[in-house]
Amino acid sequence: MSEDAEPVENISGGPGSGGSMDTFEPSENETRAAKVVDRLGELYWQKTYGGQDAFECLVRTILSQNTSDVASQPAHDALMDRYGSEEDEVDLVDALADAEQAELAETISGAGLHNQKSARIIEIAERVREEYGGEDDFDAFVREEPAEAVRETLLAMNGVGPKTADCVLLFAGGRDGVFPVDTHVYRIYRRLGIAPPDADHEAVREVLEEKVPKGKCGFGHTASIQFGREYCSARKPACLDGPEACPLYDLCDRVGVEPASGDVVDPAETVGS
Ligand code: SF4
Repeated sequence: MSEDAEPVENISGGPGSGGSMDTFEPSENETRAAKVVDRLGELYWQKTYGGQDAFECLVRTILSQNTSDVASQPAHDALMDRYGSEEDEVDLVDALADAEQAELAETISGAGLHNQKSARIIEIAERVREEYGGEDDFDAFVREEPAEAVRETLLAMNGVGPKTADCVLLFAGGRDGVFPVDTHVYRIYRRLGIAPPDADHEAVREVLEEKVPKGKCGFGHTASIQFGREYCSARKPACLDGPEACPLYDLCDRVGVEPASGDVVDPAETVGS
């Protein structure tokens, strides 16, 4: 994902993305990571996760790779218009497995890397059809099989990385305890000092899934993305304007951020300095 401006209402995949409104209570004896997520709960709306169609969710996350939601959402809509008409009761897996690559690439051209993404989508659709039959059986697999088995299966698909697999587990499978790590999550929790400054994406995910209560991980993921856009951006974290500018100031170590001088570096660059 890029640092481009993205629509704030995109949190949780948007109102039509499945799941339902929810609230959660701050728990006692919280870790600092859990306190951060509770504080984000005071800032942003909360909902439960799950309910998206697993294959569509997979396609959506592939389209969003290396681009912003602003660019990938119209590509997703165009793809669904052409290949996913519910009125015709078309199985999206079949439609995409049989798609002509040049036509699919042209349909999703707004998402960038459209030749590569169209080839991946067709390859994955063929694989899902061969192994699961169609959309409904793939949905059942993602929702019902052990999360680790689903994750491994998804990761074995060409073009599916850890973030994509975790988003499918969260948004389609409704699995608790899954905290996908995108570029915002990766930056924020190392700045906060909750994950080591030189941790890789997997290490940040492991810290968060250990420290944040399972039922709060999904909200934590989407709320952190929104917080990263609104407050803790890559180049201009809000705290450069003073403590009162950031609602997480008292919970943050500001690793790599020097409000006094205005210097901002990746937390990894502070290691050994
Ligand atoms: S205090 Fe600064 S570095 Fe920490 S979360 Fe807030 S904006 Fe980000």
